[in-house]
Amino acid sequence: MSDYKLLIGGRLVAGDTTMPVVNPATEAVIADCPRGSAAQMDEAVAAAKAAFPGWAALPIAERRAAILRLADALNRRAEEFARLLTREQGKPLAESTAELAYTEAFLRSLATLDLPVRVVEDGERRRVELHRRPLGVVAAIIPWNFPLLIVAFKLPLALLAGNTIIIKPAPTTPLTTLRFGELCAETLPPGVVNIVTDANDLGARLSSHPDVRKVTFTGSTETGRRVMSSAAATIKRITLELGGNDAAIVLDDADPKTVAPQLFAGAFMNAGQVCLAIKRLYVHERRYDAICAELAALAEAAVVGDGLLPDVRIGPLQNRAQYDKVLGFLEEAGRDGRIIAGGAVTGGPGWFIRPTIVRDIADGARLVDEEQFGPILPVIKVTGIDDAVRRANASPYGLGASVWSSNPDRAYEVACRLEAGTVWINTHLDFGPTIPFGGAKQSGLGVEFAEEGLAEFTQLTIINRAISRAN
Ligand code: NAD
Repeated sequence: MSDYKLLIGGRLVAGDTTMPVVNPATEAVIADCPRGSAAQMDEAVAAAKAAFPGWAALPIAERRAAILRLADALNRRAEEFARLLTREQGKPLAESTAELAYTEAFLRSLATLDLPVRVVEDGERRRVELHRRPLGVVAAIIPWNFPLLIVAFKLPLALLAGNTIIIKPAPTTPLTTLRFGELCAETLPPGVVNIVTDANDLGARLSSHPDVRKVTFTGSTETGRRVMSSAAATIKRITLELGGNDAAIVLDDADPKTVAPQLFAGAFMNAGQVCLAIKRLYVHERRYDAICAELAALAEAAVVGDGLLPDVRIGPLQNRAQYDKVLGFLEEAGRDGRIIAGGAVTGGPGWFIRPTIVRDIADGARLVDEEQFGPILPVIKVTGIDDAVRRANASPYGLGASVWSSNPDRAYEVACRLEAGTVWINTHLDFGPTIPFGGAKQSGLGVEFAEEGLAEFTQLTIINRAISRAN
């Protein structure tokens, strides 16, 4: 019997059926996890709808205090959750520990935001105020790469604004989120947070449900399109954080020994399964051989294995489907370019691929043009800044990008030409709750974090009062 439970209407309940959850490092089943049914999903939406008026009517300070209680409760179980996260997701324990710390930090920081009434005109003829009101029931659909952190991108903003929420974890990484549900049951009124798992079969039900007013979705661009179309029938508000194919550009004045370790970290965190990871590296021809050699040395030195073991830097791919997909990229990469480090780990168990560096590859190869979402980095030679910018921008994606140079002014000029939601200089993957985050082009719609992100969980209502001489 599983001790993991769904959270519906404040009660921790069994799923109508169960499903196995597998540790990607061992391929062993680690839990018989509750699997929600369509009826349970509907129950969760009804519970969130019923809880909404009471939650929305609370003063914002009380909602803030509740989110902070949740952060405190998480802090007390952070170590236990980090180990579970590594077991279900695969990332090294140090990365899971960091994910827990970031989750708590996002809860705490986003809870400090406010929703003041803004007066835009206060004249003789009228007084016009902007109010930000909650929307109602919010659906949060989560991917498998940062199962808990991405919950913390969405939950505090939704709740602070006065909405109630249904969280649907990804089917291969539901366990830490269900444990988080235990904390929600302890710290929040019934129905404010509901958590229902699925086997990849209830997302559409949620995103088309007539009682859901907003969908905040993080996942692939392909699924994002489906969410967008199923939200259309009832004109739901949507925020989409989708796929990326981030380009990093190394200028001819960058020092290979300085930048290579940072580029490596930016590409291979969480075995490359990061929306904002460096996925294409464009290097000036004068630095090309040196950067390739530095990256290959780092790749050879990285310890690959079960994330619970000490010193492991690269864990397994999170699930079998992703592993097979990345193996396909690997095979083609050997034809389209030259692999100078890495490759598949054979002999199992576990879905491991060593950090792989591919040189002498160019645009047109699938590894360059598509999102690999795994530990394989293509390194492309460019002849100058215009060449690099043109190639970097020639993508349907536009999540992040970065420029690397020893001359910050030169790098800044290049940064201003890149089409992405976030452009970094001499860093990559640097983000936080006070910095709005969103994708350009097909990498997303809308933003998360900060005041801009909070606004997306609200309905802007204008109160326009005529001032007559009589009153
Ligand atoms: P996915 O799109 O396959 O799944 C994401 C979630 O959507 C899962 O919970 C899934 O069950 C659910 N889902 C599936 N079909 C649905 C439907 N028809 N309607 C509603 N929901 C549905 O993505 P994934 O493979 O879990 O995650 C990897 C992808 O996510 C990559 O492309 C990555 O770049 C992207 N991602 C983006 C960000 C970002 O912030 N931009 C962050 C993390 C991951």
